[in-house]
Amino acid sequence: MRTPRRQTVTTWVGHVPVGSSHPIVVQSMTNTDTADAEATAIQVAQLARAGSEIVRVTVNTREAAAALPEIVARLHDIGVDVPIVGDFHYNGHILLREYPETARLLAKYRINPGNVGAGQHHDANFATMIEVAREFGKPVRIGVNWGSLDQQVLARLMDENARSPHPKSGTDVMIDAMVVSALDSARYAEALGLPHDKIIISVKVSSAPELWQVYRQLAPLCDYPLHLGLTEAGMGMKGMVASSVALAPLLTEGIGDTIRVSLTPEPGASRKLEVEVAQQILQSLGLRQFLPQVTSCPGCGRTTSTFFQHLAQQIQDYIRDAMPEWKAKYPGVEDMQVAVMGCIVNGPGESKHANIGISLPGTGEDPRAPVYQDGKLLTTLRGPRIAQDFQELLEKYVEERYGRIVTG
Ligand code: SF4
Repeated sequence: MRTPRRQTVTTWVGHVPVGSSHPIVVQSMTNTDTADAEATAIQVAQLARAGSEIVRVTVNTREAAAALPEIVARLHDIGVDVPIVGDFHYNGHILLREYPETARLLAKYRINPGNVGAGQHHDANFATMIEVAREFGKPVRIGVNWGSLDQQVLARLMDENARSPHPKSGTDVMIDAMVVSALDSARYAEALGLPHDKIIISVKVSSAPELWQVYRQLAPLCDYPLHLGLTEAGMGMKGMVASSVALAPLLTEGIGDTIRVSLTPEPGASRKLEVEVAQQILQSLGLRQFLPQVTSCPGCGRTTSTFFQHLAQQIQDYIRDAMPEWKAKYPGVEDMQVAVMGCIVNGPGESKHANIGISLPGTGEDPRAPVYQDGKLLTTLRGPRIAQDFQELLEKYVEERYGRIVTG
């Protein structure tokens, strides 16, 4: 059972609302050199088209800061209107002051309080970034990371812990330090005049149990929207599983208003996988619906060949590719359920529960594939064109079922 969403204020990131009453926002981050405006604009567009509702870019050098207006202009020219967030470390106070047009165009600034400078410079640099945010009416994300935790806060809490009659473990103190660092920074930003509803917080660690601990500790202490993500989740399957395991319990408890899945892409692989995984996490939890769900059985000794796997893959790819157009033309199509089953043991039953479903012939079964639509047998496909025929039936179903809503 799910707990209702934690109540928060609403923080607008460009035109995207982030907070309790709004859908949990999927975001991602580019890995291009931001100074390369063309490559960065292309990747931002890919991520946005894959469904990323906010895209972050690193702003680490003067060249990167100078490239931002061109990136935004290029995106505008191709009709991509996604809020761009600037990720600042060490020199954000300098870059935001030196490049006011970049400061104006960014929809949010990500500030890591552990990376704004040490000692006396810490507060002054942080204050400069908050001043710029105030001037341009921008929100900030106070993004604390375990790998770059504010050393002053950690040292203070370590000292206090050492004097305590019941000292906590090193991990518990570190988690306390992350929460204190995030909340102190948020309070300081507000004391500097940043409105309460212009702050989002994240406290990222790289293991699921610690992520649960730190967010469960932080969530009841404030009503800022929270950005969830496992930092350095890793590559491929490991990263996807780790992120899913880490995020699911918190989201189920109503904690988390925007998520990012930080996958290390395989060399040469598309960055958009992290967006698809984030969407799938929210969809699997029943929190958002992004695209029709394709239910397919795992296959077993009754499955005749790899034909079944190819068909399941083909239908999934077809739906994903068609979605940008379908979404505009066929409202509600994202709720559709499609079943692709390997044989008639569970196939017809599962197909009847779907909007449209097919059961391929298993080993020793008649070479025919019954198709069910809205719970009733529609037709039985035979021959070498089963895959194409099913795709055409699916397309027709979408047009008739969801097109009717538009035309009345
Ligand atoms: S539906 Fe048929 S092929 Fe698929 S797992 Fe079940 S028994 Fe095996």
